[in-house]
Amino acid sequence: MLNNQGRPTQAGEAGAATHNTFTGNRGLQIEEALLFEVGRAETTGVDFPAPPAVKSRLGGLARDAAIGLVGLSEPETMRHYVRLSQKNYGIDSGLFPLGSCTMKHNPRLNEKMARLPGFGDVHPLQPLSTVKGALELMEELGRWLKVLTGMPAVALSTKAGAHGELCGMMAIKAAIAARGEQDTRTVVLVPDSAHGTNPATAALIGFTIKTVPARADGTVDPAAVAALTGPDTAAIMLTNPNTCGLFEKDVVAIAEAVHAAGGYFYCDGANFNAIVGKARPGELGVDAMHINLHKTFSTPHGGGGPGAGPVVLSERLAAFAPVPYTVVTADGVRLVEDAAENGSFGRITAFHGQMGMYVRALSFMLSHGADGLRQASEDAVLNANYIRAGLSDLMSQPFGDRACMHEVLFDDSWLKDTGVTTLDFAKAMIDEGYHPMTMYFPLVVHGAMLIEPTESESKASLDLFIMTLRDLAFAAKRGDSERFSGAPYLAPRRRLDETRAARAPVLRWTPPKPLSLAAE
Ligand SMILES: *Cc1c(COP(=O)(O)O)cnc(C)c1O
Repeated sequence: MLNNQGRPTQAGEAGAATHNTFTGNRGLQIEEALLFEVGRAETTGVDFPAPPAVKSRLGGLARDAAIGLVGLSEPETMRHYVRLSQKNYGIDSGLFPLGSCTMKHNPRLNEKMARLPGFGDVHPLQPLSTVKGALELMEELGRWLKVLTGMPAVALSTKAGAHGELCGMMAIKAAIAARGEQDTRTVVLVPDSAHGTNPATAALIGFTIKTVPARADGTVDPAAVAALTGPDTAAIMLTNPNTCGLFEKDVVAIAEAVHAAGGYFYCDGANFNAIVGKARPGELGVDAMHINLHKTFSTPHGGGGPGAGPVVLSERLAAFAPVPYTVVTADGVRLVEDAAENGSFGRITAFHGQMGMYVRALSFMLSHGADGLRQASEDAVLNANYIRAGLSDLMSQPFGDRACMHEVLFDDSWLKDTGVTTLDFAKAMIDEGYHPMTMYFPLVVHGAMLIEPTESESKASLDLFIMTLRDLAFAAKRGDSERFSGAPYLAPRRRLDETRAARAPVLRWTPPKPLSLAAE
């Protein structure tokens, strides 16, 4: 099954790359077929007596042909799903240096708390009188988010960073409409280093995008922003620290330029992990900012669980927050579900948001405390700079060798004339047992490699990572292009056509001839 045009074996190498096996398995890495490929339509894993004849109440809707579900024994079924679960690389398997994603460890205490029956089994349609504890938890989480960001209001229910962006921008749109300026304020400014979700969000709700070019040092120039503003300015969407791992040092002047033109400042808060406890976005002129609970406040993500993207709002936008939200009354915490109570643009999701994420995030906050959260940010920045210092003599940085925030950005100019590309380098990292860093993003940097270690990694783990990347960098520079050109050699799959997989995904399994005949 494996097609190993393996890398030539060097003396002393076990020849793992070229060793084809009968089963297609590679050691204890088992090839996983689809259930439909290994199952048999005529068998079943359970014994049921034949069903008694009953009169169908389905009218003409009863199925009249076999549906082709396959039967497997219980151990076969079990192994299939366990092995699939083991193919998922996560932060629990190893260092996950994916820049902009903050793949930090999720303390098991969070899991224990999220599984408490009072939280884990709560149902969104339960009478409010039976979920007072859950409402209090939401209120408490919101309070922490407001204090940490220095913002007066929060909307909790949004379920991802991108969803939070949509929420914040809809609040801005509602505020503009309340001013009667919906027909004139139609332009959103977005720096060219922005995450793709920023322009996508603004475009989705009908705004026109104007791109703000970055300065030579990778940050946004307030003068460039001011030059693009006018009576048509609805907002700017700015990420801070930005996606180049740099703090936008002129953020206050940028906010002032946008406010002077009558627009709003949306801050993409996905990189909040660099500044928690160090800077409060509310003091930087921010009007709305989402917080990726699943990045900054642990909780699994990236295939490991759902997200949560609460949005903090300034005084000017607070009234437009979506329902539901909690308020404290003399009788305890109350859930406001009626949009008519304020200028709310309505509901942005069914029910109340991701309860499990709320519990995990608050558990992370309470177990760290204010000082611990600040230290986590400091350590995240320290770790990124430790990697930068360990690699900067070999790998080039687009904006020079200077301190970064929680992630360090390299470009590919150091690979010039080696025949090795950013993609090759990333694939060779897989052979070394590392999930690659974020590649080719941000788009403003050629061949970008964005590394974010987070605060979770020990010095030993960072040292091994640095030494591995140094070894690969030396190999590239001395012309060992074999190590890169066909990498990964040791993964169950080699180079896949990722573009085709994304553009023309095959989502339906069609049975090969004999099985379809058997099913009929
Ligand atoms: C992760 C990220 C987002 C989107 O967050 P999701 O939770 O994945 O929707 C937006 N902007 C930046 C800078 C990010 O890193």
